[in-house]
Amino acid sequence: MASSSASSFPGSVITMASSAAAVGAASSGAAGTGSPCAACKFLRRKCQPDCVFAPYFPPDNPQKFVHVHRVFGASNVTKLLNELNPYQREDAVNSLAYEADMRLRDPVYGCVGVISVLQHQLRQLQQDLTRARYELSKYQASVGCNGTPAMADFIGNTVPNCTQNFINISHSTA
Ligand SMILES: [Zn+2]
Repeated sequence: MASSSASSFPGSVITMASSAAAVGAASSGAAGTGSPCAACKFLRRKCQPDCVFAPYFPPDNPQKFVHVHRVFGASNVTKLLNELNPYQREDAVNSLAYEADMRLRDPVYGCVGVISVLQHQLRQLQQDLTRARYELSKYQASVGCNGTPAMADFIGNTVPNCTQNFINISHSTA
């Protein structure tokens, strides 16, 4: 999965911060506060000290669990978390929460719809860039050879070559 590139989008909700600090903060979660985690509160059960949900579904954000439960089901999430290493669970829960939010907003495409839109924007920007470089080269040719060819090289190198298309969705609006 291209998580590194996905996290660099400004509109991305997922922050893949699998740092030791995040795990440490998560492990000290709702254990000492006495109030059940958002999952146990929603499921109306006692939140045990070793509750698998507690570090990732704090009581102050009940909606996060509601969405994940509605899309994936609590038992599936429990199974998934138990199959992962503890240091991976924070990222897994965040990606499930993101996918669940997107799935509820867009029942057909879910987060694939967002990826498709971003890929479309990327292609558009690449076309704009190509056009701008063409205009620049025309300008430089008209000015003569004492222009600034270094600028064209600079612009050409600022955008990585991302032409791979791993998802193809035909936009009905196109
Ligand atoms: Zn709990």
